[in-house]
Amino acid sequence: MRKIESISVFDMLKIGVGPSSSHTLGPWRAAMRWIEKLKDKGHFDQVSEIQVELYGSLSLTGKGHATDIAVLLGLEGLDPQQFPVEEIPQITERIQNKNVLLLNSEREIAFNPSEQIVFNKKFKEFHPNGITFRAQLSSGKRTSETYYSIGGGFVVQKERLNSKKQQQKLKEFPYPVQSGKELLAFCAEHKLKISELVLANEKSLRSEEEINSRLKDIWNVMLDSMYTGCHTEGKLPGGLNVRRRAFDTHKTLIGDSSYSNAEEWITAIRGTEVKFRQILKWVSCFALAVNEVNASLGRVVTAPTNGSAGVIPAVMMYYMVIENHDANFEDVRQFMLVAGEIGSLFKKGATISAAMGGCQAEIGVSSAMAAGALTELMGGSPEQVLMASEIAMEHHLGLTCDPIGGLVQIPCIERNAMGAIKAINACEMALDTDARNAKVPLDKVIETMWQTAKDMNSKYKETSEGGLAINVAMSDC
Ligand code: SF4
Repeated sequence: MRKIESISVFDMLKIGVGPSSSHTLGPWRAAMRWIEKLKDKGHFDQVSEIQVELYGSLSLTGKGHATDIAVLLGLEGLDPQQFPVEEIPQITERIQNKNVLLLNSEREIAFNPSEQIVFNKKFKEFHPNGITFRAQLSSGKRTSETYYSIGGGFVVQKERLNSKKQQQKLKEFPYPVQSGKELLAFCAEHKLKISELVLANEKSLRSEEEINSRLKDIWNVMLDSMYTGCHTEGKLPGGLNVRRRAFDTHKTLIGDSSYSNAEEWITAIRGTEVKFRQILKWVSCFALAVNEVNASLGRVVTAPTNGSAGVIPAVMMYYMVIENHDANFEDVRQFMLVAGEIGSLFKKGATISAAMGGCQAEIGVSSAMAAGALTELMGGSPEQVLMASEIAMEHHLGLTCDPIGGLVQIPCIERNAMGAIKAINACEMALDTDARNAKVPLDKVIETMWQTAKDMNSKYKETSEGGLAINVAMSDC
């Protein structure tokens, strides 16, 4: 049996907390996994002291990406999907003031975050985002585990890659797809749209009811993050003094329309004037809104990462408020299924980690996901879907990651607006083209992206050691 990693749409789209999937959500989940392991081994009740070491990119941009805070919340056993994010400041303050951690929300242990979370610039060989948890046990023994946050909130352990659990993840989908070519071949053979094929694969993992309910949750979080971002004024945290822009743009665009919740808001937007300039502004506004929420440690959907969380909601919302005023959950579902599949092709063939491939792996992939998904909703063939994804990525190739001050703000927030607009444009170009004439198949652009990632100087891979991150000082902002 051929082993193909079965990546679910729910691996690509995850509800989480900002600002970064690899530097916040991943370390948060790693901490929770370690607690689970301590419990499995019967060590949990014996832990008397803890030390956490952040390596490589997690160390270099960890402060700006709130990695230390994420680790604290993970060690406290708080669920990133459910936990009320507005409580983050008081929890971190409590830990810092008392120097006491409530391990898994069960038992108190002494913990001084500034001494016991160590930022080590050294890179581990396996992956740039390494994190080691160490514990002193009351028996006198010491125990430690190392995890790697490989992008999009995925966490692995090196020695576990070939483990039984991992092999189970390679279970065959009814339509096991490793490449764009295979995806198109299955669609042609079984006369399926990409979304139908992905749904069949998902149904081998969970019931249709569960799929629908989880996709609804995902869309609700996306919608909430757009709504919250458009209605929140002020500056973003972190010291760059970045002013939230979605609020002002939204205010001008929405005018006097009245509404009292996100659903009514959609209807109100549908009633506004939309010439080309307004369309550009609306799409940008949706994307900015999500990433401003992300930058303030708010709840967003990792899609496929947090830094790029605004692209997919902005393009879906564009479809809803501009292209199709009758759009409903069916359209959302179709969109997300296609987006997830395109993202998984990039994960299998290249990377969705900026620490491995720069920003092309974040904004480039999210733009490709959104472009393909929009193309299917607009009636494009599977070939045109892949063509749109290819176009979107082709014009993100080589995009570096250089966040100023290690914060996911500049250039990240605007970059989501650009990724969303590019996705819409890529979709339109693909819809106007006979995909049989495509010169660059999606698989080739994925391969090219991966080669570019490997050739990229490491200072452009989520280290804040090059580009804008060194040419613009925090003090200039
Ligand atoms: S520059 Fe791009 S990859 Fe880097 S943190 Fe910002 S959004 Fe993520």
